Amino acid sequence: MTAIPAELMMQYMLMLRNSGVRDKRVLQAMELIPRHPFAEGQFRQHAYEDAALPIPSGQTLSMPSIVGKMTQALDVGPRHKVLEIGTGTGFQAAVLSQLARRVYSVERHRDLARSAQATLQDLGIVNVTVITGDGGLGLEGQAPFDRIILTAAAEDTPSNLLAQLKEGGIMVLPVGQSDAVQTLIKVTKTEKGLDYEELQEVRFVPLVEGIAPRVRQ
Ligand code: SAH
Repeated sequence: MTAIPAELMMQYMLMLRNSGVRDKRVLQAMELIPRHPFAEGQFRQHAYEDAALPIPSGQTLSMPSIVGKMTQALDVGPRHKVLEIGTGTGFQAAVLSQLARRVYSVERHRDLARSAQATLQDLGIVNVTVITGDGGLGLEGQAPFDRIILTAAAEDTPSNLLAQLKEGGIMVLPVGQSDAVQTLIKVTKTEKGLDYEELQEVRFVPLVEGIAPRVRQ
């Protein structure tokens, strides 16, 4: 892979810092994971701008500042097992791979899951497993998780996922109707119950039930 020009990387890191990504480990992880391999053709030239980019199957690669802030809010440690719902391109999973012990990422579009796994493999990332499935159900076989992140908006906090979160665990997710402004929330599971913290307004594609039907080529 061609190296990213130093000037471009400096601007990218500065943009992330200015937008509120202050956690050194998150910034380091984002410096190590190039974003252009996750962008499609003509959009690659915009990979280091703070923009959401279209990807196949009508989905989007999230804004890097939002990826940074969600990762920061998730407070991932090196021994953590993390579940991501909504693999998309695999970019968020790649950033998490630098901070966690193991990342499981679930995507309802088979083609996206396949291509994300290939991109991650090309980058030499070995601690992420991408699964085609309905993320709303979580991943029972690997539960419980230290951290759970949703990168598609749910109308409410999915109870299946809360059940698969360890006590002391954190879940970060956008909540709200798909065509309206959504709120990014951080849920902490304590022995006494659930703590909710509202972080900021965001806009994500909706969490959709079921595995996407195969598209005929
Ligand atoms: N995290 C991604 C961007 C997410 S876009 C990245 O870094 O590129 C949101 C993704 O969630 C889309 O790919 C969409 O197909 C997926 N999605 C929506 N509902 C889902 C569900 N129930 N289970 C799994 N994936 C889902």
